[in-house]
Amino acid sequence: MSINTYSTWLDIDLAAITANVSRIKQITNNEVMGVIKANGYGHGALPAAQAAIKGGATWCGVARIEEALALRQAGISCKLLVLGYTPPTKIPDAIDQQIDVTLYNREVTEDYLRFTKFYNGRLFAHVKVETGMGRLGLLPRDVLEFLFWLKGTHIVVNGIFTHFARADAILSESTPNQIMLFNRLLAHLENRKIKPSLVHAANSAAIFNFPDSHYDMVRPGIAIYGISPSKGIQLDDGFKPALSWKARIISVHRSHHDDCVKNKSSYPINNYERIGVIPIGFGDGFRRIIDQEVLVNEKRVKVIGNVSMDHCLVQLENMPDVHIGDEVVLLGKQGNQTITAEEIALRWGTNNYEVVSSIAARLPRIYK
Ligand SMILES: *Cc1c(COP(=O)(O)O)cnc(C)c1O
Repeated sequence: MSINTYSTWLDIDLAAITANVSRIKQITNNEVMGVIKANGYGHGALPAAQAAIKGGATWCGVARIEEALALRQAGISCKLLVLGYTPPTKIPDAIDQQIDVTLYNREVTEDYLRFTKFYNGRLFAHVKVETGMGRLGLLPRDVLEFLFWLKGTHIVVNGIFTHFARADAILSESTPNQIMLFNRLLAHLENRKIKPSLVHAANSAAIFNFPDSHYDMVRPGIAIYGISPSKGIQLDDGFKPALSWKARIISVHRSHHDDCVKNKSSYPINNYERIGVIPIGFGDGFRRIIDQEVLVNEKRVKVIGNVSMDHCLVQLENMPDVHIGDEVVLLGKQGNQTITAEEIALRWGTNNYEVVSSIAARLPRIYK
């Protein structure tokens, strides 16, 4: 057995993130905001931000102010936008750390104005417009008045944006409709000479499917990690997945009759079947779902029984060459076999985003 530092870990190829961002810059010829919310879609927020900036991202987008503050504290100096809600009590921090916030509602903005005046600072903000996502945003008809209201206050509106509900569905009218509503509003604001200077809308799917949504800046998340936004969208060869999820076999045994009962599993273990243990469980974000597969010795092997919190079992009956210490791949490549985020998403009945962003914080991330 070789001596290994970790029994389970993520290999993260930062050069892939850098190259993916450059590719998007090349495709769009626009400013790029690298979206690194949710711990950089599981890849680690700080290294992902650094890699994205290296690839040409001039902005980083996060969901919460805490994520932005952590990046600032770690020395990230690019422009930062909180895409979601910021509690009014955090406005002084946003001003202090030059973090832009999103305005999507009059009531919350009134609170921001109060904190901004009290603090006597200038708050930079982007207005979010609701064009069909049905989540957060001012209705287009309310935006003009909202902008005039803020004119001359301590809140400086730098940008205006919207978010697409279904940009992966190329045949649906949903995104073209959202673009049309947004364009109509932009023209109206332009007429009244109050259009914020930075206009943005496109997430990863829209970057590929709707070039007329690129405006001044694009906001890719999933694609900068080299992962496709959905089944229908194949990223071109310029994109490379950055993340592989690995583990080592920590035990090999032959089972006894009762083992399946102890494991509370529906899997009918044959007596003296050869079984390997890997230290990965639902506490790591590996879903408690039956019929999964992993790669061992460049072959697909079955995960058997229930996944427990810290461990699961793999079927090694026909693999006498597998021993303690051998590498297992849960997501990524081994030899000419690959398990993609798509494959796992299909097994889990979810999307690629959830697969990578739900990988637990306790897994060591190894950057190269
Ligand atoms: C998460 C997010 C993105 C990035 O979306 P992807 O589909 O991962 O590219 C862009 N904009 C907003 C507002 C987001 O919340």
